[in-house]
Amino acid sequence: MPNIVWIQTGACSGDSMALLCADQPSIENLLQRHGLRLLWHPSLTTDARFGQILDALLGGREKLDILCIEGSLITGPNNTGQYDSWKGRAKIDIVRELAPLATHVVAMGTCAAFGGVHAAGPNPTDCTGLQFLKGEAGGLLGADWRARSGQPVINVAGCPAHPNTMTKVLAMLAADDTLKLDGLNRPLAFFSSLVHQGCTRNEYHEYDIEDEVLGGRGCMFFSLGCRGPQTLAPCNTELWNGHNSKTRAGVPCFGCTAPDFPSNRDLFVTPKIGAVPKFLPLGVARAKFMAYKNLARAAAPERVVNREMEP
Ligand code: SF4
Repeated sequence: MPNIVWIQTGACSGDSMALLCADQPSIENLLQRHGLRLLWHPSLTTDARFGQILDALLGGREKLDILCIEGSLITGPNNTGQYDSWKGRAKIDIVRELAPLATHVVAMGTCAAFGGVHAAGPNPTDCTGLQFLKGEAGGLLGADWRARSGQPVINVAGCPAHPNTMTKVLAMLAADDTLKLDGLNRPLAFFSSLVHQGCTRNEYHEYDIEDEVLGGRGCMFFSLGCRGPQTLAPCNTELWNGHNSKTRAGVPCFGCTAPDFPSNRDLFVTPKIGAVPKFLPLGVARAKFMAYKNLARAAAPERVVNREMEP
């Protein structure tokens, strides 16, 4: 029976909270039907103490199949890691000791994957991700580090990570599936479509009917900072709680699965060069973008211009 050890480092517990919302599979089904054993989670296990588990793992009395890390790796001050410690031991040292024993290491959330919120400038506690700092390979373990499976750290990015993506990745690892990864080590099965795909405001985007204040029915790309057309994430292809997503609820996508999240700009404002968004939909040429938009706006049907369509 494969086991999981889940450790929190510099975290807000958002990924653990999200995990409780998973329903395909749920955490209960993950354990009961997919045969996983949760050896340690700081909030969800009660039958052992962390010190006992750690000793058993390091002493070889327990094997370590899947090591999940939630949170940024805090290396400060002066590379000691003492800003985040357990009984005097820097958490980064515990992670460094456990990672080589694990068949798979999974970064749960953008903080563990890329540094995330805690590594945002000026990063006073010297936070990093497991194998990346923002988009740059390296991080705590180094770019060439590999788990016993031969794979790098699997980056289940998101702030928080999508509940069902977390449990599906764990179920796939339990079944010995090999996960294909993208260039940022995110599983392609969940990070190969854009948030924009499946957004119910798509028709407004298509005809360039854009909102300038929150609470409308239009698209939020041109003025309200939506990063859906640039962000690879499953949010609109597998809804949160089977029910909703940020953009469906009228909140712009913040791009939280990207390595540069959170970017140093207003999340609700689209930065522009002149009148044109600075960051265009993935792969779109700047020279052609406005020509397409102007034509699209001219072709917009009345029902879309009048925002009659429910998003
Ligand atoms: S609101 Fe965002 S995700 Fe939705 S259609 Fe507009 S740009 Fe795309």
